[in-house]
Amino acid sequence: MGVPGAGADGAASDTADVIVVGAGLAGLVAATEIADGGRRVLLLEREGEQDLGGQAWWSFGGLFLIDSPEQRRLGIRDSLDLARQDWLGSAAFDSPEDHWPRRWAEAYLQFAAGEKRHWLRSLGVRLFPVVGWAERGDGRAEGHGNSVPRFHITWGTGPGIVDPFAARLAAHRATGRIVLRTRRAVRELLVEGDRVTGVRGDVLVADATERGIGSSREVTGEFTHRAAAVLLATGGIGGNEELVRRLWPADLGTMPEQFVHGVPASVDGTGMLAAERAGARWIHRDRMWHYTEGIRNWDPVWRGHGIRILPGPSSLWIDARGRRLPAPAYPGFDTTSTLRHLRTTGHDHSWFVLTRKIIEKEFALSGSEQNPDLTGRDWRQVAARVKPGAPGPVQAFLDHGEDFLRSRSVEGLVAQMNALTGEDLIDARELEQVIRARDAQLRNAFSKDTQITALHGARKYVGDRLIRTAAPHALLDPQAGPLIAVRLHVLLRKTLGGLETDLGGRVQRTASVGADEGADEGAVAGHGTAALPGLYAAGEASGFGGGGMHGHSALEGTFLGGCLFSGRQAAHGILRDLR
Ligand SMILES: Cc1cc2nc3c(=O)[nH]c(=O)nc-3n(C[C@H](O)[C@H](O)[C@H](O)COP(=O)(O)OP(=O)(O)OC[C@H]3O[C@@H](n4cnc5c(N)ncnc54)[C@H](O)[C@@H]3O)c2cc1C
Repeated sequence: MGVPGAGADGAASDTADVIVVGAGLAGLVAATEIADGGRRVLLLEREGEQDLGGQAWWSFGGLFLIDSPEQRRLGIRDSLDLARQDWLGSAAFDSPEDHWPRRWAEAYLQFAAGEKRHWLRSLGVRLFPVVGWAERGDGRAEGHGNSVPRFHITWGTGPGIVDPFAARLAAHRATGRIVLRTRRAVRELLVEGDRVTGVRGDVLVADATERGIGSSREVTGEFTHRAAAVLLATGGIGGNEELVRRLWPADLGTMPEQFVHGVPASVDGTGMLAAERAGARWIHRDRMWHYTEGIRNWDPVWRGHGIRILPGPSSLWIDARGRRLPAPAYPGFDTTSTLRHLRTTGHDHSWFVLTRKIIEKEFALSGSEQNPDLTGRDWRQVAARVKPGAPGPVQAFLDHGEDFLRSRSVEGLVAQMNALTGEDLIDARELEQVIRARDAQLRNAFSKDTQITALHGARKYVGDRLIRTAAPHALLDPQAGPLIAVRLHVLLRKTLGGLETDLGGRVQRTASVGADEGADEGAVAGHGTAALPGLYAAGEASGFGGGGMHGHSALEGTFLGGCLFSGRQAAHGILRDLR
């Protein structure tokens, strides 16, 4: 997979109207939109050119869309109102600091129900026709979760979403409208008078280490650049475990000691920290989105590399002691409440117990490199997903992954589970009882077990029946076996809070301005914040808009879309302010 943006800017001038920091998806969108608007951009990126696109390149390319033709073709009835109900039920906005996050959420919903798909199509982005049902929710109509499938996979996954913007970048570099300087680590924002006027940082030694692995931090020099506007698109904090630990939300107990890394080390929050030192407001610092279905990558790219299982709904989820998790902690239903529950169990890991039949149909792995069929846009390989047998990358985990165990009996499985953790935490007889109780709920077409009821419901959706939900069966059915246990780790990934921005991406400043006393230009009546002139933010660094448009929980596929939208909004805000 090439990087169309590759190419040297040579002796091009580093003088620009706008400095964009970070060449992830949000930075690429913003830089190219600003250049389209006629302004010159200096794009600074700490990694090498091989890392262009940041996390988005590694992503699964899932996009949240509302009432799309893909949904309609599959018989899904969606609407902006239903999506808004779901979003607000998940976000559970509850603080005065949710002023801008609420407004961003509404604007983003309009975007996802409106021009998002058309705009992406005009850039050449195409979608896989089967829409996924992520975050199925907490069981309440007004609560967390997607009422309907909305997770649209980009044909080509992460690279498929990055490539159009990398191509636009290449075109602008050719004319000199954008100058890209890699190996530039921004350390500090320049503040002169009451505005941000530029950036200062370190020039890092050239390093051709492959994408994602992590590059040298050896410093060879220093740089200072000034411009009329500085836009931070430096991503979140998910790769910086000390920072995540420091900001870990109190309602999620303590951060686990053992976890896996779901993002490269470059996602370290340095941009947000620099903005804060310059007087920017970073709100909802403890709102985060970490997954509970992480597995250790047997073939790691970055340090501690974990892969998130995108689970179908059938696996039995048990804690480290073999106790079944309570509703709504079913696979793929409610990420944060599951994490909250797991943090009360006294152990860092949990388990899926499932069958060969379930793994073959229901295990998808998040990440572009884990889906070579979709990433390579290979229909023949994709068609093999409906055939019997586990997809290649899942089979590779079964064969090589340290977290994957198989046995024909519960006793044999438990012996391996206890051996893997080094403690006799699970009693085979007790676990067999849990499994038998669950299996007994399958004798009728109806059930009091809400997970089994959810399986029957899921299979009424054609997409789930086709490729996502195995026909309900007893876990102890020998025809469905062998039994499989997968040890699950917490996987650190996303930052939901961030730099507070208005709808033009203008970062708000720390010193709050009273609504009546001396509220200066740009202050929001009744909210009491004002912009820090010259500073803008987009993508994960801005909590995908507003400092946390997701609120407390996300509906999935909303992060890439959040980069697209906030990158565009900030670009347009800058273009307006520079007029
Ligand atoms: C494996 C994986 C799968 C995912 N799947 C999905 C999905 O299906 N759907 C979805 O919506 N989201 C998904 N996501 C999340 C999504 O990809 C990210 O949230 C999003 O791409 C973040 O983009 P960004 O531009 O804000 O930040 P980043 O991609 O983190 O980019 C920030 C850039 O800034 C640079 N930088 C950082 N600090 C500095 C500094 N001080 N100076 C200079 N440069 C700096 C970094 O090197 C990086 O290139 C996934 C993420 C991963 C890792």
